[in-house]
Amino acid sequence: MDEKSKKKQETDKRYLRMAAIWAENSYCKRRQVGALIVKGNMIISDGYNGTPAGFENVCEDADNVTLPCVLHAEANAITKVAASSNSSEGATIYVTASPCLECAKLIIQSGIKRVVYSEEYHTNEGCELLRRAGITVDFLEVGS
Ligand SMILES: [Zn+2]
Repeated sequence: MDEKSKKKQETDKRYLRMAAIWAENSYCKRRQVGALIVKGNMIISDGYNGTPAGFENVCEDADNVTLPCVLHAEANAITKVAASSNSSEGATIYVTASPCLECAKLIIQSGIKRVVYSEEYHTNEGCELLRRAGITVDFLEVGS
C-alpha cells in the first residue's frame, strides 16, 4: 500500500473510532451504533441509534425487543444534515455497523458517495443495495 492510501486508511480508522465513541450516547441496550458524516475533511453530522426527539429514551420493550420507533444511527445523522444548511451530497458516512436495507435507501437518496463500516451486521443486503447504486462500500476493522 502506498503512502497516500495508508494515510487515508488511518484517517478512516480514526473516524470509525470516533463513531464508536459517539455510539456510547445511545440509550439502546441491545446494540449501540454510531455514525458520522464527513465531507471535505469536516464532520457535518453525527448520529446514534435512538428514539425520535421528544420520545422517552427507551429503545427496548419489556422483552428486550427493539421498539419500532427507534431510528438507526445513519437515519439520525442523515436527517440532521437535512435540518441543517449543509448538504450530504458527495459525503462519506462512517458507521460502526453495516447499514440495514432501510438505511441503505436513505444513504442513496442523501447523495452520500461512500460508506465505511467496522462491523458486519445481520445480512449484507444493505451493502448490496448501496453497491448497486454505485456507492463505494468499505469494510475496515478498527481494532483497539
Ligand atoms: Zn438501519
